[in-house]
Parts: sequence; C-alpha cells; structure tokens
Amino acid sequence: MADSIVRALLQDSNLKVSVAVLTQTARDGRQRHHLKAASASLFAQGLLGGALMASLQKGETRINLQLECDGPMRGFFVDAAAEGDIRGYVKNPDVDMELSEGVFQWRAALGNSGFISVLRDTGGEYYRSSVELISMRLADDLNHYFKTSDQVATRVALTVQREGKEGLGKVAGVLVQALPDADLEALKRIAGDLESRLHDAVEKTDPLDANALLAALFPGVPSMIETPVRFACTCSHERAMTTLESLGATEVQTIVDTLGSTAVTCQFCGTKHEISLKDLWAILERLGHPQHRN
Ligand SMILES: [Zn+2]
Repeated sequence: MADSIVRALLQDSNLKVSVAVLTQTARDGRQRHHLKAASASLFAQGLLGGALMASLQKGETRINLQLECDGPMRGFFVDAAAEGDIRGYVKNPDVDMELSEGVFQWRAALGNSGFISVLRDTGGEYYRSSVELISMRLADDLNHYFKTSDQVATRVALTVQREGKEGLGKVAGVLVQALPDADLEALKRIAGDLESRLHDAVEKTDPLDANALLAALFPGVPSMIETPVRFACTCSHERAMTTLESLGATEVQTIVDTLGSTAVTCQFCGTKHEISLKDLWAILERLGHPQHRN
C-alpha cells in the first residue's frame, strides 16, 4: 500500500479534511536514520504533522515543522513539500524507552518544556511562528499551535499503532479545518471524539490506505485530491561537493593530506555521499588551488 494524503470537503459544514497514511514513509525514515523505538514513533508523528500541514498549502510551498524540547529526545525537524515529498530527522535517534500508554506517555521522552515552530516557505516568502509545548503530546500541541498561532479553527489527530513486533504497524492522521463560513459547531462536534474515531478506524481498516481511512471516518464523502507521499531528499553528490567547497581550500587540502577521501552524510535523509580523492582534487581546482599530484 503506497502512502498518500487524500483531501475532501464536508459540504454540509464547509470543513476541509486531509487524511494521511504514512506507514511506509515512517518506516523508511526509521531505517535511514537508524531510529530506536521511541525516536521512530515520535518521528512518525512528526512526519504526519508536517505532511498534514503541507497538505493545506498550494503549489511549491514547503512546511518546516520543528519541535525542540528539554527531554532526552531533544526534538525533531520535518521538511514537507505540498506536492508530497518529505524528509527530516530526530535530534536523538537512540531513545528506546518503553512508553506506557496514557496522556503523559511522552513526558519521559520530551521532558518539561520546549516549543513547536512552523516555517512556511511559499517560494521566497517566509512565515514563521512558534508556540510553547503545553501538553508534551504532539497532536495536542499541534492543536494548541493552530489555536494560538494560526487562528483558523483546526483539529488534528494522529495515531501510531503497533502490530505485533512492528512498532510502526499503522501510521495515520487526520486534519479538519474550517473554511470561511464553516459550521464551527460541526467542527466542535467532530473535534470532540476525532482522536478515538481515528484510532478505531485505523485499527479496523485493513488493508489501510488514505482513501479507505477517509471512507471509514467520513462515510460517503468523496476524495477530491490524492497526493502520493514519500520520504525524499534534495541532496546529491554535487551538493555534498559544494558543502565541502564552502569549507575553503585550506580545509579541503587538510582532508587530502590526512584522509585522502571523505564522506558527507546528509542530515535530512541519512544518505552518505562518498567524496573520492579525485572529487577533492576537483574541489581544490574550483577553489583556485590546483593540486600538485606528485
Ligand atoms: Zn539528503
């Protein structure tokens, strides 16, 4: 089942809905960054949050959803494009604690304080806003963010369900947002039990994809647009070369003299770009310091 987000409209109440299933994307992120259980589960939620927020945007907009906290997890960064590509990382990939179920589940990993910040990049124009964490539970803190910062009536719910030994058994989320002239009472009613309805619908829907989940959550509501989602990065061997070039000739010369080759690991996707001696010579050449190959 490929990951995607489907968008729909609740016509009676003028509410727009985005439904995301990101199970494969979350597992891909876990593998790329070698995430232990709790880190992988928080990152899965971060990917859902970022992708759902990006689904509200148009064209080439990107959303950067960042969480910083004083607990062992330290935070995460997610970069989501409206057209479906998503990437990011967890600051501490090694958090492996057993998180007991319940409202305070994430406090042991997230700590006592922190904030969420959202950067919207609409292709040259940037909008940034942030709020303090108050719940230490991503979905609740995102709802707090929408209330205080975005000021468009919005409700989001996320779920990461275990299946046997697989901690990322099913990864899914839903976002409901008011359009102008929306029925806000209807949104309140939906918001009241959205999380438990999401949880039950995800549990019951098998196989799970975004269209099936939309049908389970909002029976009879047609999907308008489906956007495939995948973990994808903008890094390349050439960009890794440029990164090294920015260190300057002296540094690159030191690498040539001491290591002979190197590798640049992309922070966002974990890809290791090998930089050979020949590549290093090419960089020195570009920097105006051609190598004496003796
Ligand atoms: Zn990358």
